[in-house]
Amino acid sequence: MSKRGDEPRVLPTEPALRVLMRRLRDIMAEAGDGQARLDKIVKQIAGVMVAEVCSIYLKRQDGSLELFATEGLNASAVHNTRMKRGEGLVGRCAEMKEPVNEADAPSHPAFSYRPETGEEIYHALLAVPILRSGELLGVLVIQNRKTREYSDEDVEVLQATAMIVAEHLVTGAVAGSSAAIEISKTLSQVIRGEPISEGIALGHAHLHEPRIVVTKLMAEDPSAEMQRLTTAMLALRTSLDDMLAHEHLSGAGEHREVLEAYRMFAHDKGWERRLREAVESGLTAEAAVERVQNSTRARMLRQHDSYWRERQRDLDDLSDRLQRILAGKASGVLDHSEMPPDTILIARNMGPAELLDYDRTKLRGVVVEDGSGQSHVAIVAKALGLAAIGQAAGAVERVNAGDAVIVDAESGEVHLRPSPDVINAYSDKVRFRARRQQRFDALRDTPAVTRDGRTVALHINAGLVVDIPHLHESGADGVGLFRTELQFMLSHVFPRLGRQVQTYRQVLAEAQGKPVVFRALDIGGDKVLPYLKQPQEENPALGWRAIRMSLDRPALFRTQIRAFLVAAAGRDLRFMVPMVTLASEMDAVRDLLSKELEILDSRRLELPRSISVGAMFEVPSLLFELDALMRKVDFISVGSNDLSQFLFAADRTNALVSKRFDPLSAPMLRALRTVVKAAAKRRVPVTLCGELAGNPISAMALIGIGFRSVSMAPASIGPVKSMILSLDAKKVTALMDDLLKRDGVAIRAELERFAEAEGVEI
Ligand code: PEP
Ligand code: MG
Repeated sequence: MSKRGDEPRVLPTEPALRVLMRRLRDIMAEAGDGQARLDKIVKQIAGVMVAEVCSIYLKRQDGSLELFATEGLNASAVHNTRMKRGEGLVGRCAEMKEPVNEADAPSHPAFSYRPETGEEIYHALLAVPILRSGELLGVLVIQNRKTREYSDEDVEVLQATAMIVAEHLVTGAVAGSSAAIEISKTLSQVIRGEPISEGIALGHAHLHEPRIVVTKLMAEDPSAEMQRLTTAMLALRTSLDDMLAHEHLSGAGEHREVLEAYRMFAHDKGWERRLREAVESGLTAEAAVERVQNSTRARMLRQHDSYWRERQRDLDDLSDRLQRILAGKASGVLDHSEMPPDTILIARNMGPAELLDYDRTKLRGVVVEDGSGQSHVAIVAKALGLAAIGQAAGAVERVNAGDAVIVDAESGEVHLRPSPDVINAYSDKVRFRARRQQRFDALRDTPAVTRDGRTVALHINAGLVVDIPHLHESGADGVGLFRTELQFMLSHVFPRLGRQVQTYRQVLAEAQGKPVVFRALDIGGDKVLPYLKQPQEENPALGWRAIRMSLDRPALFRTQIRAFLVAAAGRDLRFMVPMVTLASEMDAVRDLLSKELEILDSRRLELPRSISVGAMFEVPSLLFELDALMRKVDFISVGSNDLSQFLFAADRTNALVSKRFDPLSAPMLRALRTVVKAAAKRRVPVTLCGELAGNPISAMALIGIGFRSVSMAPASIGPVKSMILSLDAKKVTALMDDLLKRDGVAIRAELERFAEAEGVEI
């Protein structure tokens, strides 16, 4: 685009490309086998481009590139020369999917010398990828004896020619080659990504932004194509302007800033000029969009700057929209009506609200090329109980709409077009999981009471209104942790009082009288709000976050407290504060609460029936202020994720250290027992809401040190409850007392041994 460093220039490509197109069309119309046609194609290209060599390499199933046709290299090398994936300059062009233009190829360190081809006498080399809907089919190469860099015009012409070659390959006009290139879109493939939301899902692909496959490349009536392009551009711009004008639409899916960026691109003169030039050179409007998209992508992805990568995404989205418009799909807005009943959604990247736009009854799994475990789409996928995998490179390009897909968010694998064996294996796995789930479901209304009669309250962790049905489905006693920051993270502007009230009110209503503990804003650290200016910090986890930010920015915090109070009018309000470090911070919190209560009182608004204010126990300093803390709070909730991060000084987001220290070890368990005892002494209710609670073996240890209330992900309620039902609390208490008295014991192993011997289901 003409934004940075891409100056407008006159494009004199028309004649060469037109000549080539006419000749290639003639070749395709002739009788003869595919190889003969391919031979003629390379001859023609070499002739028109004044190149001594023109070769076509096609991608094989294993990723290698086979020389399929050549003009100029030794004929005996055809079908004999194969470049391994990434090998040589040709392999490099394939890997990067972008042109390689080398004035003196043999002197390039990546050059791979193949004596059988006789190419050592050629110096200049230009290789362009042969792409079809973004999928690499092969590489088209020209070479010349003289050392020289090919002009931009040469690059453009060869790229456009590569598109035409791609069409002939895909339509099977070149027999024998189609097997090599179509394989990647018909055979089974496995993409390795990262699980971002637990589960296994079998279903059929639905592309979040379905790619339109361009089938007609050469224009029959160039002026009619130009008219189509003009009309489509106008429709695209109008639709984006309309979107921006409608606040409700931006709220329903796209973020406003994203739309602004789209709009900026849609009006970009450089983009329009390139599209027009492509049509002028003889392409259909659709082919022009694809060509400009491919060549711009190659250029932008070469930039390692995230700014450019983001711009590329915008351009991809815009190009796809324009294709949809050209295909007659109204404003280019996605049509979800063709979702399979067992949809696996495949996306480059996706906003969280966009995922919510889909019909949930048809969604089974999600595959995103970008998303990480911390991404917002991951948060929503978890909330919806969808198996999801992020970092699935190339998923969009490798899948066809309707393909069978398996999402294994245990191993992080996405199986595209799996074989019957794989489908059977996974069907068994899913059945097994379903049976296990049925067993847990059957326990839904059974209270969590140990064999010796100790009741343990089980709560769920939640963060979105859509999580609340899990409360009833799992049979949990309440919501032990409602992470209010999620609403803030998903929104593109700071949620105003009214929006907050609405959310909290809805949560309380849907909880149907079961207790809900709201956690006050826990932002800062790795939880970034795009619209809130936060300083760059050396150690964000130890930085200006949670209550620290709330006390320094009391206006934000007071708005949230007011929202809690208004939403809980006439009901019980429970809220807690994250990252409390000093007991006295709770005084500051209570001060702000009193001020808000006064305001509401003066306005004669109905107040909550009761108000409980708790502290999250996440920072070890509180271990040495326990009495003071207990006096100032109505309840304590241990955030074991942060507590263990700070106790062991091990960053929970850093894979190098996050698993280094086992929380099921004496230091952590002794700290936890100290908290439980102090709370019991002061009769302060205590619960634990970190990951530790959701794992049956660690939940067993927690019961052993005195916890009688825990909060966890909804999916963990069943497994933890079946552990409790088979547990003798007295015995595990004795075991923990003994283990924590001694030094150097492998506590986890001892707990496993105990569970095995006692028949505890873990
Ligand atoms: C915790 O730290 O254990 C906790 C529950 O809070 P979060 O994971 O949201 O930091
Ligand atoms: Mg925490």
